[in-house]
Amino acid sequence: MLQRWKQWRRERLLQRHALPKALVAEIYSQLPVLAGLDRDEQERLVELATLFLADKRVLGAGGLEPDLGMAVTVALQACLPVLNLDLDWYRGFTTIILYPGDFVARHRYQDELGLEHLDEQPMVGEAWDGGPVVLSWEDVARSGERDGFNVVIHEFAHKLDMRNGDANGHPPLHEGMDRQVWTHALSGAYEALCDALDAGEAPPLDAYAAESPAEFFSVLSEAFFELPEDLAMAYPEVYRQLVLFYRQDPWQRLQEKR
Ligand SMILES: [Zn+2]
Repeated sequence: MLQRWKQWRRERLLQRHALPKALVAEIYSQLPVLAGLDRDEQERLVELATLFLADKRVLGAGGLEPDLGMAVTVALQACLPVLNLDLDWYRGFTTIILYPGDFVARHRYQDELGLEHLDEQPMVGEAWDGGPVVLSWEDVARSGERDGFNVVIHEFAHKLDMRNGDANGHPPLHEGMDRQVWTHALSGAYEALCDALDAGEAPPLDAYAAESPAEFFSVLSEAFFELPEDLAMAYPEVYRQLVLFYRQDPWQRLQEKR
């Protein structure tokens, strides 16, 4: 009964919030990161993006007034990681805030002596635990080009990571996945990346990944969708774990397309 009700509600939302086909097609064609999806996957991605936008608000800040095209650009890329999971993974927050460019995040914190500090940093994206995802539109607009940079996937990967508490590079794993194997693969690669950076070698990933295990997972996720071949070559065990987690294989589908 519940299943039927859910299905009915889903159909109704899809009808009510249907996105203009021409707009979606235009934005889709400008996002090489979506290349390789077959027709069924494309349809499901657009459905997810439609339901995503029916559920969430995209608000402007810093003088930006987001239009539907901007919202669709965010939604299509945010839904790519959950294409074979479920939109439920993005439950618990409703707002995406778009700034025109870099924004300053202010974080107040107390040090061990109890002194208050105000940390102010320019950011291109931020994901709040239980709160909004904040993005720089300028950086969203240069995401999805298959060059390894994708602020949308990065921030929404943090949201997946936060499903079981603080972002720490350990999102909830699916049944049949082995937490030890996950941890071994990711921490081994993390250490290798930190060693490479210490040795002054060119890292196979954006050096920001070495910031923390949480950033590592988000940067890995960007690479997984943007440059899967490079990631699979650099960290094959990590790649295999991400295939299991995301339940898709971007390298394989991009090879098939060739
Ligand atoms: Zn991050």
